[in-house]
Amino acid sequence: MFVRVAVPVPTLDLLTYSVPAGMATPVEGARVVVPLGSRAVTGIVVAVESGPPSDVAAAAVKPIRTVLDTEPFVPADVVRLARWTAEYYAAGVGTTITAVLPPKTRGARADAHKTRRIAAITAAGHDGLERGSARQREALAILSASAQGVPTTVLTKQGIGAATIARMAREGLIVLHSERVDRDPFESAVLWSPDESTVRRLTMEQEEAIAKLEELAAADRFHAALLHGVTGSGKTEIYLRLAAATRTRGRRVLMLVPEIALTPVMAAQFRQAFGDRVAIQHSALADGERHDQWQRIRRGDIDVVIGTRSAVFAPVQDLGLVIVDEEHDSSYKQEETPRYNGRDVALVRAQQAGALAVLGSATPSMETYHNATTGKYAHIVLSRRVMDRPLATVTVVDMREEFAASGPDVVLSRALVDGLASRLARQEQAVVLLNRRGFATSVFCRQCGGTIDCPNCSVSLVVHGEGASRRARCHYCNHTARVPPACPLCAAPYLEQAGFGTERVEAEVKRQCPGARVARLDRDAVRRKGSLTAILSKFRDGDIDILVGTQMIAKGHDFPRVTLVGVVSADVGLGMADFRAAERTFQLITQVAGRAGRGEQAGEAIVQTIYPDHYSIQLACRQDFPAFYARELVFRKAMRYPPLVALINAVVRGRTLSSVMEDAAGIVQRLKRADPSGHAFRVLGPAPAPLGKLRGEYRAQLLLKGSRRKTMRDALLRALAARPDVARRTSVDVDPVSVL
Ligand code: ADP
Ligand code: ZN
Repeated sequence: MFVRVAVPVPTLDLLTYSVPAGMATPVEGARVVVPLGSRAVTGIVVAVESGPPSDVAAAAVKPIRTVLDTEPFVPADVVRLARWTAEYYAAGVGTTITAVLPPKTRGARADAHKTRRIAAITAAGHDGLERGSARQREALAILSASAQGVPTTVLTKQGIGAATIARMAREGLIVLHSERVDRDPFESAVLWSPDESTVRRLTMEQEEAIAKLEELAAADRFHAALLHGVTGSGKTEIYLRLAAATRTRGRRVLMLVPEIALTPVMAAQFRQAFGDRVAIQHSALADGERHDQWQRIRRGDIDVVIGTRSAVFAPVQDLGLVIVDEEHDSSYKQEETPRYNGRDVALVRAQQAGALAVLGSATPSMETYHNATTGKYAHIVLSRRVMDRPLATVTVVDMREEFAASGPDVVLSRALVDGLASRLARQEQAVVLLNRRGFATSVFCRQCGGTIDCPNCSVSLVVHGEGASRRARCHYCNHTARVPPACPLCAAPYLEQAGFGTERVEAEVKRQCPGARVARLDRDAVRRKGSLTAILSKFRDGDIDILVGTQMIAKGHDFPRVTLVGVVSADVGLGMADFRAAERTFQLITQVAGRAGRGEQAGEAIVQTIYPDHYSIQLACRQDFPAFYARELVFRKAMRYPPLVALINAVVRGRTLSSVMEDAAGIVQRLKRADPSGHAFRVLGPAPAPLGKLRGEYRAQLLLKGSRRKTMRDALLRALAARPDVARRTSVDVDPVSVL
């Protein structure tokens, strides 16, 4: 017999090994130790075959060394999903299989668990309570009180040493055994506490949505639905009820959320309903925690798995419901190989399991909304907030008028400053968003106009901090430098800072609102483990008045006392050379405005921009999603972009711009020769990528547009196969979320 094995080595595809005589043939999904060059690695069996593949000589096939599992370690459907992902996203099976393994199984000791030693008293021990040394009598007294036994660490804390414990065990007074400890990731989570005073009566729209979704779920075969509910319409309540109904039908639930920060809050709500049969899976869990949870899921001790993108590969069986919350969120896309979109893999998983997939959002992606309007997905709308709360009223501030009135350095408009002051006076909370980190976005020379750029990337360095702690940093490669006293190009001492980020906004808010308790939430502020949950829970507890931050504060959070949201430079994203710029801007403004007025008091949003007439800003302020979709679709049609065509982006990296442009041109030529009429797809490029240099490598880009992904992907892979040296330096992105 022969087996096809996926090994967690990035560039490798499936490898074939033979099963030596006398060894039982492993099952699909089992781990096997196989030779690979001079090493031995642990891989997963993905197929069992009676003969070697036609392109491999049987004699060249090496035997498996060891079979580690008699039953599938990774369930067969997850192996199948990983193979689908590898193929669809043109990634090696090797990289993809890594994504489905829990941490630590990549090494040899797969089942390493944290354990502790438990001591329990025996009958002989009970008889000996009054005998022996003082230490021994004390130990037996402690143990006699507990039928289950006591961790040995408890005894050592009482001064009963390891030698005494060992002697008592030898004399048969106690027995020792090891117990596995499941580390609980909930321990460190901020817990959500329900408002006990409100009895939850569902709104009419919630009732109808649940009825429709339950009908689809009860069909026990694949359906997909868009749950399109405005911010604060109570989508979570719907997820909870659907999950409960799914469990009643004896099936399990997988729920994806876009942000690690949202998992504890969401999980806590599910814990209220499902107790400890809820597991969390995300990359910020300690390896041990994640491993324990993974094992519990695999053993079937879990009914609901909640996690970020990679949780889509969790080993849950009998799936009946797959939820993707905030389905439009770009963090579902993995920006390294395999470049999969967790939402789309979740749909495939639901399809393979015959489950209902629910995609929830207040601002659906163009793709999902397209599928809902064309009838591919059921379309369920929640048009109103719970308790008839109004959506926030939105005011647009034209910053050009502010500059004219107060000078070009204005960060906060008069309207926003007034708004913040009145919230402080009423002891309400506010959120201020700017989707750009740092203090200043560049340093430039007033004499020669030069900027201080990253030596490794084609971007200027961003200034962080003020005064003595001021540093310039690259947001792509983390290169950090002191801000020099004079221009490195012309030596003139006229360096100035331009542009601003969240740190500057924080400073301005503090200056304009003396006495306010202000905090900042962005990737820099949460670098330390635990600081994210600390900031969020302080804000929730009312210990922070104004929270300044990046899109991190725009997502999902439910803070009832926030009545004002300020958006500083709402147009940050519009300057980017990306076809999704308008979509992102619309989503960000709508989502962050949705954080206001979720409690008793009505909410207000103030949106600052220099493009007050841009349709994404105008329609976001009116919170008119259908109008935005219609308008944006016109643009996507005219420019041939998704959701009307499929895209594959390929980026070639290399040492010089001219060499990468040449390499990319060679690929383009082969593609055009393969489809001379241009009927199957169009090829754009080669062109220098918008981010022309990254981490010391130059980048050239080519883009395939067409309606048939498979044709495009196969053609590209064939063109790359002809130039293996170029292929190694090329990343292929199927369904890119960003083409920078
Ligand atoms: P969404 O995800 O749609 O933005 P949430 O699920 O966060 O909205 O719900 C918004 C708030 O309304 C939450 O505090 C939630 O507990 C509450 N809520 C949900 N359904 C109801 C209801 N039927 N009656 C009262 N409050 C509700
Ligand atoms: Zn850099």
